[in-house]
Amino acid sequence: MNAHAKQYRIPCPSSHIISVPAILLNEELICPQCNVRFLADFKDSLEYAEEQTERAAYQWLVIAISTAIVLVTAGLIAIVSQLFQ
Ligand SMILES: [Zn+2]
Repeated sequence: MNAHAKQYRIPCPSSHIISVPAILLNEELICPQCNVRFLADFKDSLEYAEEQTERAAYQWLVIAISTAIVLVTAGLIAIVSQLFQ
């Protein structure tokens, strides 16, 4: 994978998916299918949307693991306090 060849898929205002090389991000482009001018905004790209989805999944995983650790710790404290009664 060559970082310079990275392409972003950005929808035009009429929802045609245009493959945009990284160097043309934030430039005004013309959709080859409907000839409409639009700004190639990274935040509109499918790659950005996928990144947000992955981040949300990762945050969910962190919360799930943290909750599990808290529950296990609480369980251990309960067992230990039973032993020393
Ligand atoms: Zn278009």
